[in-house]
Amino acid sequence: MAALTTLGDEARIALDTLAGRASGLVSPSLRLGVTGLSRAGKTVFITALVHNLIHGGRLPLFEAQKSGRIARAYLEHQPDDTVPRFQYEDHVAALVDERVWPDSTRAISELRLTIDYESASGWGRLFSRGRLSLDIVDYPGEWLLDLPLLGKDFLAFSQEAHDLAQLPIRADLAADWLRLAAATDPDSDADEMVARRLAESFTTYLRACKEDRRALSTLPPGRFLMPGDLEGSPALTFAPLPGIGEQRARPGSLRAMMERRYESYKTHVVKPFFRDHVARLDRQIVLIDAMQALNVGPEAVADLERALTEILACFRAGRGSLFSGLFSRRIDRILIAATKADHIHHESHDRLQAIVRRLADRAIERASFSGADVEILAMAAVRATREGTVKQGRETLPVIIGTPLSGETIGDETFDGTTETAIFPGDLPAKADSVLSDLSRGATSPIRFVRFRPPRLERTAEGVRLSLPHIRLDRALNYLVGDHLA
Ligand code: GDP
Repeated sequence: MAALTTLGDEARIALDTLAGRASGLVSPSLRLGVTGLSRAGKTVFITALVHNLIHGGRLPLFEAQKSGRIARAYLEHQPDDTVPRFQYEDHVAALVDERVWPDSTRAISELRLTIDYESASGWGRLFSRGRLSLDIVDYPGEWLLDLPLLGKDFLAFSQEAHDLAQLPIRADLAADWLRLAAATDPDSDADEMVARRLAESFTTYLRACKEDRRALSTLPPGRFLMPGDLEGSPALTFAPLPGIGEQRARPGSLRAMMERRYESYKTHVVKPFFRDHVARLDRQIVLIDAMQALNVGPEAVADLERALTEILACFRAGRGSLFSGLFSRRIDRILIAATKADHIHHESHDRLQAIVRRLADRAIERASFSGADVEILAMAAVRATREGTVKQGRETLPVIIGTPLSGETIGDETFDGTTETAIFPGDLPAKADSVLSDLSRGATSPIRFVRFRPPRLERTAEGVRLSLPHIRLDRALNYLVGDHLA
């Protein structure tokens, strides 16, 4: 009976869609996933992209816009009623009116942007004007890194967490959790308070990896740092138990409880997220904060490469993929974009891109990645700086000019958040390989990094405020949606 009902529902959905198509109510849609680890720049990217399209921003490398074929871009109701809406208006108000960075991504959200355009080919124009609905899906990269858990039982998960915690770069941060875990008997009776203490201690360790100046990327479970609406629920009140063996858990024991919760995390959190969201994407942009990693040093760069490898493995197509059974659509283009390129002079942009390409090539190789076209880009979704030169003695140095955020420091100077300053950011080396190998030999970072406030928007002579400035955002757009507007 249940199966019949399901069939009926599905048939109705199919009919609805067909009827919509026939009456022209349903325009073709493209689902664009935007991901990246926390603080990579997802919120800023989506806000800048939508703002530039709606306000006809300067996008010379976005062919459809440059040739004047985009008639209108506007926000519409999103198709998925149960997914929170991306708070575009709030983010624009923060960026443009208050000149502060918007609140970062904490959970999944979605926004539908519809674009009315004219087809480039005479053939297409003969038939009709085009309309494309771009469904932008913003989600934490941390959640993506949960995918490998589906192939692991609680024992394997516990052992792996234990092994990673022994690594020199993590060991001191993990010490408290390891001590608590060692003092806990997995075979003792299940106790909610013990489970909670272990989960909290494990979460504190994961958070320290991220927040410490080490800038290490997250280890699963991804919801421990980005709980979304699951904060405090039993599905998140578990932790790995190092030291357990192959034997079965005693019913009623702490281990049995932890195992059950781990399994329900996989069944009720990880799997539905993939099936309902990731598996339905057509295109994907993965944002990475290469500037921050380069600034922190070699371990952070190596860690970024590890995270990128794991992220790409999630999108691997075909046999041997972790998730082939669940993908209903196929992602055919992936853009790996290093954001915040406005922190360096334009002479270094291609160099940043080359470094990211090296990282991505190694990740592609390690993940045996295939199945989608992958492109690499160094960009800034919002350009917070201008370029200039400063004379120092006989030398003319290229500088970037911006307003450092309040509290940022260079040497012994601390900025107040209102003063514009010229900064010589340093140069990235011409050879990508050399920065990676120098870094792995323990060299210090070649760049000087301060965080800037969002830019003040210029006005035209008529008093119209110009759109948000960017670096190569148009190139990203052209790659991600350009072919659907042909
Ligand atoms: P999310 O966690 O991926 O949503 O990250 P956000 O989009 O909130 O970005 C995190 C922080 O990175 C912001 O608060 C900004 O300080 C900085 N940021 C992001 N994108 C840019 C950019 O294009 N230029 C500059 N200068 N800073 C950026």
